[in-house]
Amino acid sequence: MDYQAVLEEVAAFARPLVGRGQVADYIPALAGVDTGRFGMAVVDIDGGVYGVGDWEHPFSVQSISKAFSLALVLAEGGGRIWERVGTEPSGNPFNSLVQLEYENGIPRNPFINAGALVVTDRLQTLTGDASTTMLEFLRAESGNPDVSFDPAVAASETEHGDRNAALAHFMASYGNLDNPVPTVLEHYFWQCSIEMSCRDLALAGGFLARHGLRADGTRLLPRREAKQINAVMLTCGTYDAAGDFAYRVGLPGKSGVGGGIVAVIPGRCTLCVWSPGLDTRGNSVAGVAALDHFTTLTGWSVF
Ligand code: GLU
Repeated sequence: MDYQAVLEEVAAFARPLVGRGQVADYIPALAGVDTGRFGMAVVDIDGGVYGVGDWEHPFSVQSISKAFSLALVLAEGGGRIWERVGTEPSGNPFNSLVQLEYENGIPRNPFINAGALVVTDRLQTLTGDASTTMLEFLRAESGNPDVSFDPAVAASETEHGDRNAALAHFMASYGNLDNPVPTVLEHYFWQCSIEMSCRDLALAGGFLARHGLRADGTRLLPRREAKQINAVMLTCGTYDAAGDFAYRVGLPGKSGVGGGIVAVIPGRCTLCVWSPGLDTRGNSVAGVAALDHFTTLTGWSVF
């Protein structure tokens, strides 16, 4: 497969959609991002790295961090996390409170905010410093020591974090958090604020294509747990549009309101696409179209 040629064709296809959609303005520090950006990277399981457009430009990973926090909890032996968070799509917005009440404080899945807060709580208990654990992992896997938190984004999220605070307090009232709410929120916001490029993210997510093997060949996760993460990404990774994403793209994927999407072709490669304009569900307009075109051109969806 000539990845570079495919990426060039995908970029040309997506170009007319770049700039469509809205940036996430509920986090003021994200509102100023240039919607004219588009980048895409592919990292194959043999370590080949390919990219197009703004693929080396860092952006706010936001909810893409939720896939990594889940992986790190499982890697730390936290398999009992599945007693505290479910594996079903929610069909509700990512920051919704409604299901928590009638499901006794157990979030539907680890990729809505409530679920990610529980996962962060668990990672904090297992490691003593959830956000630094994630940052170190992302630096190691991407090979980029400059991967960093963005303090302005973290501060902005904290300042505008009433909804996340409500979710955390609500779950704490059901006994589904072990650490104090402010500690959980702090680590959650720092994780979301991490800045990475498509290149960094495709490299860091390589273990999902390698059935749990890290970049250095050591095992992060058993194959079964890598499978589980990919499955939950497929069914829950793109907000309440996961059905549409599966229909159009046909891959496990995790998106963030920074406009990035990481997608996985197990046994082949990890992709990351970035373009900040979001559709009404919070997924990158040009990003979803690019992934759709990639799997159409290559025939490499999981279906
Ligand atoms: N930090 C964001 C929040 O919790 C994550 C948003 C997202 O990318 O879904 O509101």
